[in-house]
Amino acid sequence: MNLFRTVNAVAIDGPAGSGKSTVSRFVAERLGFVYIDTGAMYRALTLKIMRENIDFSDEEKIIEISKELNVQLLPAKNEKNSIRVILEGEDVSEEIRKMQVTGNVKYVAKIALVRDNMVKFQRRMIKGIGGAVMEGRDIGTIVLPDAKYKFYLDASFEERVERRLAELKANGQPITRKDVEDDLKHRDHADKTRKVGPLKKADNAIFLDTTNLSIEEVTMKIVKMVKTR
Ligand code: C5P
Repeated sequence: MNLFRTVNAVAIDGPAGSGKSTVSRFVAERLGFVYIDTGAMYRALTLKIMRENIDFSDEEKIIEISKELNVQLLPAKNEKNSIRVILEGEDVSEEIRKMQVTGNVKYVAKIALVRDNMVKFQRRMIKGIGGAVMEGRDIGTIVLPDAKYKFYLDASFEERVERRLAELKANGQPITRKDVEDDLKHRDHADKTRKVGPLKKADNAIFLDTTNLSIEEVTMKIVKMVKTR
């Protein structure tokens, strides 16, 4: 697995609302590294399954589709989206963030062979590049266990709800506080209890509680640690 030491990989894991997406993007910008949002890949796969009207219980079909998933992550054109997500040539950056997609990701993310395919794809993405910031749920534990730098971000449940609510409202999604609370509870549970690739802090990851920290403060802490280690 030494392959992954050849790049400066920064693995950032944590639950929704921990601040990891924005922080990961900013850290990548400051370090001149490529930013890879693995959640966007699971979301794009989920969207494809929904569009093709495939039943979420049809695991064989979902595995087959995950093998050939044609998804690209490109730099954002504006501040609204953190990245552009291209599924089979179409920009689905906004569609994959909709609550219907968010609520269905757990059905594909729990399938072991789907995760194997995603992990292979994610590892291939960093081959031959100088540096990467990869964020998700299983990056420090499964995708890049040899990453030079590993961080696990978390925040209080209340603060995470506030952040997600603000983010979804800014994106124009009709949503109540109760919807956000329910989504976070269900996703935390599904992400932490699935048998393969559960959300978990890697033993050697640095834990950062972001509850009372701004995005800039968290970004600076990580950038400083990466530069000085
Ligand atoms: O990061 P984001 O909230 O966009 O991820 C959406 C969902 O994708 C998560 O709730 C999780 O179920 C799944 N995911 C995953 N493994 C990753 C990244 C995301 O299972 N590495």
